[in-house]
Amino acid sequence: AAQVAPPSTAAPAPVPHPDCVFCRIIAGTAPSRKVYENQYVLAFWDIRPRAKVHLLVIPKQHVASLKELDDLSVETRAALLSACVKVARDQGILEDGFRLISNSGTNASQSVFHLHFHVVGGERLREDAI
Ligand code: C5P
Repeated sequence: AAQVAPPSTAAPAPVPHPDCVFCRIIAGTAPSRKVYENQYVLAFWDIRPRAKVHLLVIPKQHVASLKELDDLSVETRAALLSACVKVARDQGILEDGFRLISNSGTNASQSVFHLHFHVVGGERLREDAI
């Protein structure tokens, strides 16, 4: 019988996107204040925090936005959401509440075109802004 390789659990090495600042952060060639990392995702402080806690959670595999979510493995998609909750818990903002935001595309004023989730909290947030 033909040998079938078992499914790999290791994430493929991320393919950096040219001129993507978040790909440089993943590669370690741009600085960041990392708070969590696993084989699929990276979490770090937003460079311009707009609340007492303002983290970003990104996939190591470059995709531009939620529009390309289906290009990520199911493991990466699960890891993204789990990491958002984990870093919120680790920062102590889970109990009092926090916000999870992903600006996608022009109408959302997305400015960095590497998928990211803003994890925002640590204080009472305005209803109409992060
Ligand atoms: O959702 P949007 O694309 O607008 O958010 C990009 C976020 O990435 C901003 O909050 C910005 O402060 C952050 N950023 C960062 N480090 C960089 C460039 C942008 O944390 N080097």
